[in-house]
Amino acid sequence: MSDATKYIFVTGGVLSSLGKGLASASIGLLLESRGLSVTIQKLDPYINVDPGTMNPFQHGEVYVTDDGTETDLDLGHYERFISAKLGHDNNFTTGKIYNSVITKERKGEYLGGTVQVIPHITDEIKKSIRLVSNDVDVVIVEIGGTIGDIESLPFLEAIRQFRSDVGKNNVIYIHLTLVPYIKTACEQKTKPTQHSVKELRSIGIQPDILLCRTDRYLSPELKAKIALFCNVDDNDVITAKDVDCIYEVPLIYNQEGLGNRIIKKLNIWARAPRLEDWQELVDRLKHPRFSVNIAIVGKYVDLTESYKSLNEALSHGGIANDSRVNLIYVDSSSLTEENLESTLEKADGILVPGGFGSRGIEGKILAVKYARENKVPFFGICLGMHMAVIEFARHVAAMEDAHGTEFDINTPYPVIYLMKEWYDERTKKMEKRDLSSDKGGTMRLGAYPCVVVSDTLAMNAYREENISERHRHRYEFNNQYRKTLEDAGLVVSGTSPDEELVEIVELRDHPWFLGCQFHPEFKSRPLHPHPLFREFIKASLKNSRKE
Ligand code: GLN
Repeated sequence: MSDATKYIFVTGGVLSSLGKGLASASIGLLLESRGLSVTIQKLDPYINVDPGTMNPFQHGEVYVTDDGTETDLDLGHYERFISAKLGHDNNFTTGKIYNSVITKERKGEYLGGTVQVIPHITDEIKKSIRLVSNDVDVVIVEIGGTIGDIESLPFLEAIRQFRSDVGKNNVIYIHLTLVPYIKTACEQKTKPTQHSVKELRSIGIQPDILLCRTDRYLSPELKAKIALFCNVDDNDVITAKDVDCIYEVPLIYNQEGLGNRIIKKLNIWARAPRLEDWQELVDRLKHPRFSVNIAIVGKYVDLTESYKSLNEALSHGGIANDSRVNLIYVDSSSLTEENLESTLEKADGILVPGGFGSRGIEGKILAVKYARENKVPFFGICLGMHMAVIEFARHVAAMEDAHGTEFDINTPYPVIYLMKEWYDERTKKMEKRDLSSDKGGTMRLGAYPCVVVSDTLAMNAYREENISERHRHRYEFNNQYRKTLEDAGLVVSGTSPDEELVEIVELRDHPWFLGCQFHPEFKSRPLHPHPLFREFIKASLKNSRKE
């Protein structure tokens, strides 16, 4: 921690889903746009040690960082808005905090003393905040949950203490609340905000700035009323208006003067914000010239929040092609030979995303077959790449009943399987895996290098040989069948540097058909759309214009 590091703690009130993650990411962007270096950390009050094992339907997507941490999806927002690379220390949960306190207690580090929430848990929380403070001007810490939850109390107590620890001028508290418009009264109501701030003050935290989520701008009178009741300046009541596109949030905040208020309160000298690129991006997103339909073929229950990064990456691919991307969600378990055509005929491109488990697998394979045979641009990601390999093996390479061992352990052609042993570029050692290790924590996780083969769709997209992409999976392409599949026409267009792990496959006699073992969506940024998404959307647009 450098002496000059400043801290912004972001809490949320009234109800969940107000978009604290986006608010924190947007604050980060505003500060970066003024030339400051920023990082963002999420403190989650739940007891799971990490979200890796949590049901994505309940909790949304599991986001993966370069260092292989399975994190909360808010870290995806952070990485899409700011340039900092996040990792292990940017996401702490109650479980992770207690885990380390209990481990220390077992080792006798507390010298037989009574271990308590205050000070031991709170100290551990404060220690975790300091872990990300090195070499940055500002640390933004988002506290998960809503004020009033029992679970968040130790975190709130820790951030309350933090201000005394590092000095009053170095910490501000920003509270995101709701100002609902009540139709019958034709009025915006401030009471929920008043109550939430009261609750926050009762635990010793006086917010410095209020972000009021609302569907219309707050009038000066309303701001004054909120300011009076909540003990802040009128200028510190910021309208966080609903927007059509998430990338507009920082622009609204800026217009409301949030950046100025923050740097004034934290006593930071910084240049005026440069948000021209961002403004242009929002304009492009809101007024695209073209439009394209992409079918996402997945498990019904996964088809919303669990594909956050994927949806964003597709929209980035749209930005690169001046196109709106309309998503058609297709539940793979309802796909049959009979309804295949009628379900997919409107799709200009077909995407099979990552996933786990056997449900709807045959439907996904049918969708691949349809895309391959009808020359519809196809993009398979992780599980989607497995589906592409299995479909190709079965229907082109004459390997009847070919499968992945995740779905059929007795298949005669296990083209996707658990690789027993391989050299791991990230851990720099030989890794082993078998059926008994097939549980959480044994996945290939995080950034791995990949070498792209020239004269391929992949090379045409990346335009560089050495790339790095993020992984989250157990099963791999089975090299035993590589020659047969290649002889039948499958192109291996990306591998690990030692060529043992197949990372990208594609087809030649097709407008655009590509499957990758990694998750490119985690690395797509609005100002830097991912090359594979850019090319997939480009090919799909071309297909949409076909007679
Ligand atoms: N279920 C597959 C595996 O574990 C794919 C995982 C994924 O798509 N992320 O390898």
